Formats: sequence, C-alpha cells, structure tokens
Amino acid sequence: MSDTVSGRAPDRAAGTAVVVGAGVGGLATAIGLRRAGWEVTVLEGRTALERYGTAFGIHPTAQSALDRLGLGDALRARAVPYRGARIRRPDGKVLAALPLERIERRAGRPELLISRPHLLDALLAALDGLGGEIAYGRRLTDPAALGADLVVGADGINSVVRTTYFGRSAGPRPIGTTAWIGIAGFETGLYGETWGAGRFFGMTPVEAGRTNWYATVPGATTAQEVRDAFADRHDPIPRVLAATDPTTWIRYEMRHLYPALPGFVADGRIALVGDAAHAMTPNLGQGACTALLDAEALTRAVAAAGPPGPAGLPDALRAYDTERRRGAQRVAFASRNLHRFMTGRHPALRDALVRGAGAALNRVGERRWRASGT
Ligand SMILES: Cc1cc2nc3c(=O)[nH]c(=O)nc-3n(C[C@H](O)[C@H](O)[C@H](O)COP(=O)(O)OP(=O)(O)OC[C@H]3O[C@@H](n4cnc5c(N)ncnc54)[C@H](O)[C@@H]3O)c2cc1C
Repeated sequence: MSDTVSGRAPDRAAGTAVVVGAGVGGLATAIGLRRAGWEVTVLEGRTALERYGTAFGIHPTAQSALDRLGLGDALRARAVPYRGARIRRPDGKVLAALPLERIERRAGRPELLISRPHLLDALLAALDGLGGEIAYGRRLTDPAALGADLVVGADGINSVVRTTYFGRSAGPRPIGTTAWIGIAGFETGLYGETWGAGRFFGMTPVEAGRTNWYATVPGATTAQEVRDAFADRHDPIPRVLAATDPTTWIRYEMRHLYPALPGFVADGRIALVGDAAHAMTPNLGQGACTALLDAEALTRAVAAAGPPGPAGLPDALRAYDTERRRGAQRVAFASRNLHRFMTGRHPALRDALVRGAGAALNRVGERRWRASGT
C-alpha cells in the first residue's frame, strides 16, 4: 500500500465505491478507499454533519488503525490521554482501578479521548485532501439500485443497507436504559465511574478546561431529575451536572444490534462497517474504535486485492469478514454483559465482586484490548 504511505490518492481509479453514511466509520472507510485509488462518493442523509456529541475513547489498537490510515497525527493533535480512572461507590470510596495503565504498559501507548466533533473534523479534512466527495442530503433508500463496484453500509444502527441485504430479523433492540451525556466547562481531575443501585455516572477528560460525563438513571425524563438523582453523590458529580447547560445534554435510548449478523458482507460487493454491522451498548466505549478498525481492515483487504480493484473484490470482502466479524461481535456481547453487571439488582454483591476482582477487571480490560485488535 505505497499510497497509504505517501498519503496521495493515485491518478488511476481502481474501482468505484459508494459509502453510505458520513459518520466515523463511513469517513474512515472513504479515506482508506481513496488512498487505495478508488473513486469514492459518500452519501450522507443529513444536510450537514451534526457537530454535536461528547467524547470517544480511542484504544491503542484503534490508534494503530488510524496510523495505518494516515490519521494518527491528526488524532494525537486533539486527543488527551486517559489515565488514573477508578470505579467508585456513591460515597466516593474506591472499589477498583480501571485497567488503563496496564493496557498502556502492554500497548506502549495510552488510551486516548477525543471529542466527536474534533475526530469528525480530522476525518473530513483528510478526505477533502484526498479528493473524496460527500453528497449531503442524500438519504439512500435502495442500495440495490447503486451501480458502484463496491457499496459500503456505514449508515449506523438503523442501516438501510443492512436491512436490504440481511432482512429485519437482526435489528436495533432497546435494552431498557436511557443514557445522558454532556460536557462540563471545567476539569474535574477525578475520572472513572461511580456505580450505584441502577444509577451510574462516568467522567473522563476530553480537552483542556472540560470534562466529558455520562449517566444513567432509571425513570428520569428531565435534566432536573438527573441532577436530583445524583445530588447526594460524591464530589464533583453534583457540580459537574450543575455546570453543564441542560440544553446541551444529549439523551438517548441505549440499543444494540440483535441478533448478531451472520456476515458483514453480501453479494460480493456489499460490506457493512461500524454500527450498521454491530451496534453495541456504550459500556465498553468501543463504538468508534470498532468502526475505525472495520474501516481500516476493509480498505486494507480491498487494496490488497490490487488493481483492477473490483476483480478480486469478493475475496477481499470475505477476508474482511473473517478478520473483523467475530472480534467485533465479541466486543458487542461483552459490552452488553458489562451493562447487565453494572445495572444488576444486587449492588452490594456486585461491589463486593468488583472490590475482590481487581485482577479480573484487569483481565476484562486486557480482553477488551485484545478483542478490539486486529
Ligand atoms: C449526531 C451523532 C452524535 C453522536 N454522539 C455520540 C457521542 O457523543 N458519544 C458516543 O459514544 N457516540 C456518539 N454517536 C455514535 C457514534 O458516532 C457511533 O456509535 C460510532 O462512532 C460508530 O459510527 P458509525 O459511523 O458506524 O455510525 P454513525 O456515527 O451513527 O454514522 C452513521 C451516519 O449515516 C448516516 N445515515 C444513516 N442512514 C442513512 C441513509 N439511509 N443514507 C445516507 N446516510 C445515512 C447518518 O446520518 C450518520 O451520519 C453519535 C452519532 C451521531 C450520528
């Protein structure tokens, strides 16, 4: 992949691709395909990219994928390291450490956090530099009608590409929990997750002078109810919520794709990446990472098929499916299980398990690191 190294898109197109969706997965895929010399059009249903969202955790393996896509420097220019995070009880007592330092020692680089708008900006700038085009306001309804050599469904959890090729038996399933996320205008310096009975609060760094937070509260429907639910939690949780303008809070129903798909590719020319392929609960913080790993693996496989691109495409797509499907589905499964564990009905038992299971948590962290790898 000499073009990956040079960062230039070659003059001769290897094939034509339509990428459906300009989220993290779609943009990274379009970049990889452009670097491999493909003619790429990205169809985005929205009239402009939504520049909201909080922070993405980017694991070392996803950082390596970004490096291979030529995007590592752009990531590091805006990202901050995540270290020193703890799991706490509502009164602030530490139950265990998140295994971030151990992952860092093994990988030789820390987990990073970057705000969603900054990551999107980096991806958009790279795609623009490679001459990739985004057609905004083009909500695809019939992928089968697209004439391109390769169609990539990067159209998120409600993917029309997925339903067209895999039917509706697999679809987004609510897990019965509403999440709230936001960014407070000060740095807490205290990070990690606080687990209470059904209620859950997390804080991470995101950029200088700001703190990324996420929370779940059964039954809460307003920002005030969320604030009330955490009013007696340890410092700085009430201050974080008080310092975040409720009009900027994002509220969403947590969903995942169920059951897991039998394949990420179809018809020798269709591939799914990111949430379209394996939408997962956010508990392991792997949504963006897995989308990036998919994009890099898919475009590497397609590039390896060599010019003329479409000729070896079915084999390349099979190679992508083999490399990514099981690992991504394992991460999704683990994330769902972690959600069950965190929100279980017996918090005292759970906390005792967590306290006594520092080593086990480290193993979870390592499994997550390995599972997210290529
Ligand atoms: C506006 C927004 C804000 C988000 N904020 C956060 C956040 O703060 N924290 C977090 O952890 N995760 C957030 N996510 C989810 C996160 O981006 C994804 O889980 C993860 O990055 C995987 O990305 P993806 O590219 O597979 O899917 P997505 O990021 O969902 O991107 C899919 C894209 O496809 C487009 N699309 C959908 N259907 C069609 C169609 N038929 N035709 C054309 N285009 C279509 C969508 O408009 C969207 O731009 C957010 C997603 C969105 C869309």
